Amino acid sequence: MARYRDAVCRLCRREGAKLFLKGNRCYKPSCPIEKRGTYPPGQHGKDSKRGKLTGYGEQLREKQKVKRIYGMLEGQFRSYFEKASRQRGIVGENLLVLLEKRLDNVVYRIGFATSRAQARQLVNHGHVRVNGKKVDIPSFQVKVGDIISIKDESAKNPHILHAFETAVGRGRPNWIEVENKTILSGRVVSLPRREDITQSISEQMIIELYSK
Ligand code: SF4
Repeated sequence: MARYRDAVCRLCRREGAKLFLKGNRCYKPSCPIEKRGTYPPGQHGKDSKRGKLTGYGEQLREKQKVKRIYGMLEGQFRSYFEKASRQRGIVGENLLVLLEKRLDNVVYRIGFATSRAQARQLVNHGHVRVNGKKVDIPSFQVKVGDIISIKDESAKNPHILHAFETAVGRGRPNWIEVENKTILSGRVVSLPRREDITQSISEQMIIELYSK
């Protein structure tokens, strides 16, 4: 699948918010948003004035932001919205929960990777097991009780070990329990809830955009 391959920090600056796309750098003072603030990217970014967005513009930017956080392309994101609309409950919350339950996101949340992009690569390359079986589909939806682990041969990979060791600093959600710090695995103990997603997201704007 096609992916955005330009400098990801530009995406944060475009959205005027930290999207946590670059692994450990996002948590360091060298993060461009920390160093330079949220003015737009480009040579004249600092001097440019962001005009006040219209309602439609705000909704569009919010959708782009969430798409970028979870590394989605438009068609895929839209199909999550449609699936969320068919489910019972609040559509916006359903949408975020569907995104959170993706295997690549769970691998990131457990801390096997420092970014969702890195987590997706781990899954794609067959390093991840769900209940002991290889699953190499990043969009796989986890269920309560699933145990997500790293295959034995990859458990000494220094990138994975470093990500796992530093995951506490990045924060793990309550719906995932790290089973045993020595065997690199995590268990989904409950479904993610809206309040577990701490990043600033206004899902209602996305619903309004897609409902036009
Ligand atoms: Fe770059 Fe991460 Fe900072 Fe975003 S949050 S600007 S991806 S370092």
